[in-house]
Amino acid sequence: MLAVTLLGTGGPIPDPQRAGPSTLVSGGSEQYLVDAGRGVLMRLAAAGVGPAQLNAVLLTHLHSDHITDLNDVITTRWITTFEPSPLTIVGPAGTRRVVAGIGESLGPDIGYRIAHHDDLDYPPPVEVIEATEGEIYLGGDVRISCAPTDHRPVEPTVAFRFDYGGASVVAAGDTVPCDGLDRLCEGAQALVHTVIRKEVVSAIPIPRVLDTLDYHSSPAEAAQTAARAGMDTLVLTHYFPPPAAGDEDAYRALAAEHFDGTIEVGDDLHRVEVRP
Ligand SMILES: [Zn+2]
Ligand SMILES: [Zn+2]
Repeated sequence: MLAVTLLGTGGPIPDPQRAGPSTLVSGGSEQYLVDAGRGVLMRLAAAGVGPAQLNAVLLTHLHSDHITDLNDVITTRWITTFEPSPLTIVGPAGTRRVVAGIGESLGPDIGYRIAHHDDLDYPPPVEVIEATEGEIYLGGDVRISCAPTDHRPVEPTVAFRFDYGGASVVAAGDTVPCDGLDRLCEGAQALVHTVIRKEVVSAIPIPRVLDTLDYHSSPAEAAQTAARAGMDTLVLTHYFPPPAAGDEDAYRALAAEHFDGTIEVGDDLHRVEVRP
């Protein structure tokens, strides 16, 4: 059984109810964080998991709203572990540069803490793996693989697949329907997909908002991807606009026109169990 916990379902616009995009995928005792948006460690704490327990952080892409709190994950893991526990960070090409930049920005803090704590004499250990397609070997029992997605002009971007005990989940990130995602979804049971309601967005006469239309999926497009792969469950997240209380059905109805399986629309900390 794999468990999916939506840690943050919001978008780039700060929302008092929704943290930034981030999803926890758990299999057995292993914990994988997909993206690290605003407030991720608060939501992770609410889910009963600390940064020291993470097996890896997997980044779908390097858009700021998906990585705002990666620095918090790196620092808090470092200061809450008592021997070097390298944080594995997997992401598309460019991840190494971003992580190096975060390390640079944390330079003063790293210096203060090493000077202050006798038992802390090393900087935050991180191990970066840049991935494009195929299996990613992290040494756990959960098998992880990735494939390229299409969020152009943002590139490269990837989706991740988790296989454990006969259950499989794909976490898509931001993308329009594409071959890479279809390949990854083949034979999997559940798809976690970010969505925007294009019929709402297209009525907002702000160019910067309209620009988001051509590189995200609508609930219908996410549903079509899940349906093509014959999946059982579609979990929608990273909603724009964020559904007001009681408004989740609109998202569900748009997806249900194209997908017969279970459609999950939830708030932060919504948890879905995926069984073989
Ligand atoms: Zn994005
Ligand atoms: Zn996004």
